Amino acid sequence: MAELSCVTWTRCYIGLGSNLEHPVTQVATALLELERLDHCRALVHSSLYRSDPVGPPGQPDYINAVASVETTLLPLELLDALQAIEQQHQRVRIQHWGPRTLDLDLLLYGDQQINNERLTVPHAFIQARNFVLYPLAEIAPDLHITHKISLASCLKNCESGSLERI
Ligand code: ATP
Ligand code: MG
Ligand code: MG
Repeated sequence: MAELSCVTWTRCYIGLGSNLEHPVTQVATALLELERLDHCRALVHSSLYRSDPVGPPGQPDYINAVASVETTLLPLELLDALQAIEQQHQRVRIQHWGPRTLDLDLLLYGDQQINNERLTVPHAFIQARNFVLYPLAEIAPDLHITHKISLASCLKNCESGSLERI
């Protein structure tokens, strides 16, 4: 009898952001790259949004989106894959929250809570960022950030402000 293989697919949410070198193209290309990642399937993504920059003043506006994939990668393996894509986009880290060609943040990894040197999941600022919460609501309105905290409740506490769907 053939052996049954037991593979666990975990649904993850990824925040994308760019404000350098043609941000719309950066984000659109990154979505294609996420779709093609090994050990990932079933990509779903939000619309693109324009948001005001956070961090050092004088930066260009951001283009943001949120994507979701199912993956068999472990959390740190997925972070490696996301950082490899950032590198393909010549991401350079000069200033904390400074301008960047591409930022890929792991927002949620199933319902896991992770705290280690490289990874905090749910993402540390997920509840405070309109450019994450509103795109998330587009693709997963019934999502929970933690067992006790719904996306809907976060949205009630976070104004859309000048966030613009494009
Ligand atoms: P922020 O996390 O506030 O959005 P940022 O995205 O600009 O800031 P980066 O420079 O992209 O920060 O990442 C800095 C470090 O954050 C990375 O080296 C990574 O190890 C760590 N990190 C911790 N948790 C996460 C996460 N959930 N997703 C992505 N990186 C994370
Ligand atoms: Mg970020
Ligand atoms: Mg990041």
